[in-house]
Amino acid sequence: MGQNTMTAAELDFRAEVRDWLRMALPPGWGPELRPAKTFAERMEEGKLWQRKVYEGGFGGLGVPVEYGGRPATATQKVIFAEECARARAPEPADIAGEFILAPTLLAMATEEQKQRFLPPIVRGEVTWCETFSEPDNGSDMANIQCRGVVEGDELVVNGRKRWNSMAQHSEWTMLLCRTGEPDSRSRGITFALVNLSTPGIRIEQMPMLTGDTRETEVFWDGARVPMDNVLGAVNEGWRAAMVTLTTQRAIGTAVLVPRASVMVEDLVELAARTRIGGRPAIEDPVIRDGIARCAIDVAALRRTGERAMAASALGRPVGPEVSIAKLHWSESEQRMQRLAVEMLGLRGLLTRDDEAAVDEGFWAHYWLWTHALTIHSGTSEIQRNIIAERVLGLPVKR
Ligand SMILES: Cc1cc2nc3c(=O)[nH]c(=O)nc-3n(C[C@H](O)[C@H](O)[C@H](O)COP(=O)(O)OP(=O)(O)OC[C@H]3O[C@@H](n4cnc5c(N)ncnc54)[C@H](O)[C@@H]3O)c2cc1C
Repeated sequence: MGQNTMTAAELDFRAEVRDWLRMALPPGWGPELRPAKTFAERMEEGKLWQRKVYEGGFGGLGVPVEYGGRPATATQKVIFAEECARARAPEPADIAGEFILAPTLLAMATEEQKQRFLPPIVRGEVTWCETFSEPDNGSDMANIQCRGVVEGDELVVNGRKRWNSMAQHSEWTMLLCRTGEPDSRSRGITFALVNLSTPGIRIEQMPMLTGDTRETEVFWDGARVPMDNVLGAVNEGWRAAMVTLTTQRAIGTAVLVPRASVMVEDLVELAARTRIGGRPAIEDPVIRDGIARCAIDVAALRRTGERAMAASALGRPVGPEVSIAKLHWSESEQRMQRLAVEMLGLRGLLTRDDEAAVDEGFWAHYWLWTHALTIHSGTSEIQRNIIAERVLGLPVKR
């Protein structure tokens, strides 16, 4: 956020966050960090960090005080993310709960559900995941087939979900299941909040290019979910799902753009200590052009974020325009990491198991991970469809 566009309260908030971060960062975190740790270790650190954030008074920014949160503008939320990125603080483990579910609960849940589910998220006591996608239904979410049948005061769930990030590290999940007729599309879907320790739920690890234990498949075999955990009404989960997906795509602005800014600084630093043809890479015109392109990408993303925040300050809900940000940040991150790996040559491909790897394999690891960014939360093709149809108003292609 540009300093000159901020209010005095926002500037004070930035100073408060900076002061707190100076004393709160766990040992070993800071400017030199490279994530050579395993995914499970990073999740554990993320869980400890989110509790520290709450104890520091920054839990649940933007969540009303009656649910344990702290009032904050959208700009203050970005300031918090920017300062954490700048200080290279750990990533919170519960991105799904804090950034995706909490706004959905505030928009859609009953008072009783808000009282029950929001405070543990704010206090950083739980980790949530999302079980929407299925082996045959990713982009076409309205075609979900995992079955939910209402029996008394329970929803009985049978089916299979795939690509469920962090399910094995989470306690709860947001579930979409079909309660209507098989061909009822978006009119027959129910959104439920499910404790993953419920009998009848089995989680299996999926292999990933990076070696991270991040993705899972979740099998549902007669899992019984209390009807009190249904968000909105039975067969009316589509609206909540749309709030969730829109919020998910907006995360880029809140969390990832500040991190991308720091990544541009890292690229400059990497180029200064890497040699190409006997000279520092930073003197190579192709590398310089590449870094300039990344810096322009990030600047444009920040402006897009500021536009969204200005709209939110005027009370306008986040809409399909978040697809522009999602498309742009995911593709920019890929360009950045490709540039780093190209700059490093063959050594850039070595992973953390190899002694000769640069920065303990950080660049190779992150480059491999960025391939997922244009797929999860809706692929680039789907974002382009949304932009064409719902932002630009172009004819819908059938
Ligand atoms: C790392 C990672 C993490 C994920 N995390 C989660 C999670 O936590 N929870 C969850 O529920 N899901 C998650 N997903 C699943 C993700 O949302 C889906 O993979 C994604 O929506 C694409 O669905 P699909 O894999 O079924 O591909 P498909 O929908 O089969 O698409 C295949 C290809 O066809 C293209 N395509 C499909 N439809 C159209 C169209 N109408 N127009 C143009 N092109 C089209 C797609 O862009 C893609 O290139 C994750 C995926 C990944 C890779």
